[in-house]
Amino acid sequence: MLKLPVCPHCHTIYRYGEVKKTLYEKNHKCYHCNKIFEISKIRILILFLIIALIAAIFNVFELYMMAGINFIALIVTNIIIITAGILLIPFCIRFKRYNDFSDKTNRKKSK
Ligand SMILES: [Zn+2]
Repeated sequence: MLKLPVCPHCHTIYRYGEVKKTLYEKNHKCYHCNKIFEISKIRILILFLIIALIAAIFNVFELYMMAGINFIALIVTNIIIITAGILLIPFCIRFKRYNDFSDKTNRKKSK
């Protein structure tokens, strides 16, 4: 599941930093083959749901298992979980090939 996306046309592997840049775009032109593809971010939602679930489990665990609630430890745990989740975002992005019809309309729009 944890794989960086590749160009759907030429299968060029995108590096972590490059994927991060595409986060704010709806579609992207491949630097290798110059073809336009769609950036799918649906998996990021799933990632956030998993992070929220993990954070909730850790919080409950800490609240029940630790003698005397240490709020700083609780906050630190949450920050670590959220940071780990943010670092995983580029691995959830997928590049999707447009079908022929939308590819043509997309090219018209970009001109
Ligand atoms: Zn390409």
